[in-house]
Amino acid sequence: MSDGLFLVRFWGARGSLPAPAAGNCEFGSDSPCVEIRCGDHVLIFDLGSGAQALGTTLVQEGVKDFDIFLSHSHLDHVIGLPFFKPFYKATVHARLFAGHFLDDMTCFEMAERFMAPPFFPVTPDIFHAKVEFRDFRPPATLKPQPGIVISTVRLNHPNGAVGYRVDYKGRAACYVTDHEHIPDHPDSGLLALIKGAEILIYDCMYTDAEFGPCRGFGHSTWEEGVRICEAAGVKRLVIFHHRPGRTDEDLRQIEAEAQARFPGAIVARTGLELTL
Ligand SMILES: [Zn+2]
Ligand SMILES: [Zn+2]
Repeated sequence: MSDGLFLVRFWGARGSLPAPAAGNCEFGSDSPCVEIRCGDHVLIFDLGSGAQALGTTLVQEGVKDFDIFLSHSHLDHVIGLPFFKPFYKATVHARLFAGHFLDDMTCFEMAERFMAPPFFPVTPDIFHAKVEFRDFRPPATLKPQPGIVISTVRLNHPNGAVGYRVDYKGRAACYVTDHEHIPDHPDSGLLALIKGAEILIYDCMYTDAEFGPCRGFGHSTWEEGVRICEAAGVKRLVIFHHRPGRTDEDLRQIEAEAQARFPGAIVARTGLELTL
């Protein structure tokens, strides 16, 4: 059995919009979807357009029980929800967690509003799987399976978003997108969440040079990712949520600059696998 396995797989790393283009095939165009395997158990973070390929793979592998965690419900993070094949299998039992709705609506109400005319032809009633919609309020601690502990924190993003930390077998991976930092005032709750983690997947939509006119849009920079990794003793920074227009060349350059500052930096791409 793969009891000690702790694996992170990227199915989509593009932010704001799936953005296929001839010049970005190396890093990929699908919007956020990240799979984390803890032993045999599958955790999924966001259902962006990358969820389409992940869903096909899970069905092929016969995976029937898993947990999904939404950072929030902006389109780039849920657009794959209606196209996620396991939801159409009666043998599947999934739990879908979301932590920023409760003041306005439930996670299930979000899905009903999202999958409805005139934006979508069918409603969630079409799903055959047993999908449990579970709402929580950060900083709730979630224990989806024995031995897996998930800590949560509220992020700074229009309409809200939630950051996650997965602890398993003494190691930790964090998923923190979409989040706008306040320059020179790192968020103490976020620093506590990521402290000592092996991996931080972080919203690096912009560079510091681009950030000024983009304040208020709810995103951060790879340089801030480096700063908080250094401040919190995180070993690896995964640069994530790439601007739709970034080319492979742009991202290779960002990776080289980031690695010169912080050797543990890597730019996420569709198909990237990291073992903790
Ligand atoms: Zn986003
Ligand atoms: Zn967003």
